[in-house]
Amino acid sequence: MQQVHQRERERMSVDGERLLERLEQLFTQLRRGLDDLNKQPLRECSPLMTSQLQKTSFKYRFIYEAIFYDGTQVCSNWPANLSLTPSPGREPDIKGPVYRYWLNTAEQPDDNLAGLMLGRGDFEVTTSRGHLSDAVDLPPGGSLLVVVDDDQRALPVLGQAQDWPPSPGWPPSDGEVVVTDYRVLYRLPTDNSDYQLVLSMPRADTSQYLSQLGWMLPGILLIALCLGALALHMARQRQSLGGELQGALRRGEFTVHYQPIVDLNTRQCVGAEALIRWRHADGTMTSPELFIPVAESTGQIRQLTDFVLQRTLEQLGPLLRANPQLYVSINLSACDVMVPRIGKVVARLLALHDVAPRQIAFEVTERGMVDVEIAKLKLQTLRDEGHRILIDDFGTGYSSLAYLQTLPVDCLKIDKVFIDALGYDAASSGVAPHIIRMAHALNLTVIAEGIEHEYQAQLLRSEGVSYGQGWLFDKPLNAHQFRERITGGRRQGPRRAEDQV
Ligand code: C2E
Ligand code: MG
Ligand code: MG
Repeated sequence: MQQVHQRERERMSVDGERLLERLEQLFTQLRRGLDDLNKQPLRECSPLMTSQLQKTSFKYRFIYEAIFYDGTQVCSNWPANLSLTPSPGREPDIKGPVYRYWLNTAEQPDDNLAGLMLGRGDFEVTTSRGHLSDAVDLPPGGSLLVVVDDDQRALPVLGQAQDWPPSPGWPPSDGEVVVTDYRVLYRLPTDNSDYQLVLSMPRADTSQYLSQLGWMLPGILLIALCLGALALHMARQRQSLGGELQGALRRGEFTVHYQPIVDLNTRQCVGAEALIRWRHADGTMTSPELFIPVAESTGQIRQLTDFVLQRTLEQLGPLLRANPQLYVSINLSACDVMVPRIGKVVARLLALHDVAPRQIAFEVTERGMVDVEIAKLKLQTLRDEGHRILIDDFGTGYSSLAYLQTLPVDCLKIDKVFIDALGYDAASSGVAPHIIRMAHALNLTVIAEGIEHEYQAQLLRSEGVSYGQGWLFDKPLNAHQFRERITGGRRQGPRRAEDQV
């Protein structure tokens, strides 16, 4: 509402200034015409006088009629039937020290015979309503008022008469805009002490806005209430999840599952992605998509990442030692990437379990690289240690292409949404083929995520994608199932104590 008021005030000021300029022009012409007539010597009706009056009306564009009237005889530049002169003897509406004013235009129903008249001495000049509205260009519904008698009376010069005074606080200072319930009023700044000019316009904007608002208000309130309740619910859920996470870690409710990553040509498992699982005491599961963001915001994600790393090496250490080509990729969050901590944790665990650094890869998302410059440095350090860096959920971020060239990465994981979008028959449909070509141009390995159908695997293979992950091959498996998947049930050579886990 404040904005609407402000807009109206601004519009009014601009319109008012423009109007005043035009009015000044018009009044100046009328006064000059009168001054000219008063200066010349003729003081009675004669053909000479008529020609003098005609000259004046030709000279000044806004003067429609010029008359001589000394109380007994009247002569005009127009024949009597075209004259605008009000009934002789009508008192002027404003009597100034030099000029007299008749403001009858709005009351006179005939447009042509309505006029604004100024008098000085025995001469009077009139402007027609047509002239006036040409000069003043009033917006629809607007009125131009002349306010006299110490702001007590408002006479319409153009437009409708108005209740007066318009508001309890009237009069404002010159040039100030007053907004009442229905109208916007602007008191034009003038030096004239005889009268004030006021421009009045209806508040069309506001009433429209108000009626719209009236309709919308219940809806807006309802939406606001729903959003508020939702926000409260989510905040509570996050709070309770955050609290529960700590207890869950202590009670050992987290486990790690491994989803195989396969070679699309041979269908052999080349590695796995470690995915955390939360099984509550009552057997229900909470999706990582729910609790990972909470853990990220509370900072508990570090403990979770450490847990996944530790559990992976405990459970799969022997398998990795026995299969030096096999690797496990670990998901990192933004705070794992930005802080050098993870390098030390993994180095200690690798040494403890005697596993090569290239067998632990790290998955980072674009969201995880809050500051790309710092991320570059940290990832380079991990890479220098021998770890592979995978970009997870590729294509769902915002800055994919631009920064990819400069990042120290080995592999792109194309997000499931692009794999889902692959057409049944056209390998070239969707975004995936473009990502694949770009990855190849940058010498990056590609892993397609979320492959659920054979045709997707075929299409991706034909596009040159070497690796895939998805339910078509395997769902995430527990450690035992994953070991079986790799060994086909065969025992792996030299055992260590923790291989029993
Ligand atoms: P992500 O890293 O993109 O992991 C892939 C997700 O896709 C996993 O969901 C996986 O189970 C699911 N998936 C794999 N193949 C298919 C398929 O063929 N069809 C369908 N519909 N889904 C498939 P999950 O385990 O629910 O994990 C969701 C996300 O949670 C992960 O997405 C990852 O961003 C995050 N996450 C999971 N574990 C961890 C973790 O240990 N640390 C961190 N920081 N994030 C994790
Ligand atoms: Mg991942
Ligand atoms: Mg992913």
